[in-house]
Amino acid sequence: MMNCIFCKIVNKKINSDVVYKDEIFIAFKDINPMAPIHILIIPKKHIASINHLKEDDKELVGGLILTAQKIAEQVGIREKGYKLAFNVGRGAGQMIDHLHLHILGGWENKE
Ligand code: 5GP
Ligand code: ZN
Repeated sequence: MMNCIFCKIVNKKINSDVVYKDEIFIAFKDINPMAPIHILIIPKKHIASINHLKEDDKELVGGLILTAQKIAEQVGIREKGYKLAFNVGRGAGQMIDHLHLHILGGWENKE
């Protein structure tokens, strides 16, 4: 997708702070973090949102969640805890129409 910011990140037309990549996914730091650790995981393939997923994407979606777990481990928040979020549609605050999973964490321990 020519005008998609996240496709441009995949194609290295826009710089990003990449924390993980494999053949299917890439993860990078959110430019405007809402938590001490705020990472976005995206499929390299352009899918606009959760609403655009097809039956054939089942494996990709499972892989996305498992990749989140892997990155949480890598950045040291797997045991402490983290939030995963998908914004779906403008009404829920989705601003970029390329599927992305937010990983949020790194807050101080709450007793
Ligand atoms: P959404 O609101 O669509 O769920 O989330 C999009 C996220 O992408 C936002 O948290 C925003 O800060 C982040 N973002 C937007 N443009 C860029 C960019 O060019 N680089 C990076 N690293 N993050 C971006
Ligand atoms: Zn895209």
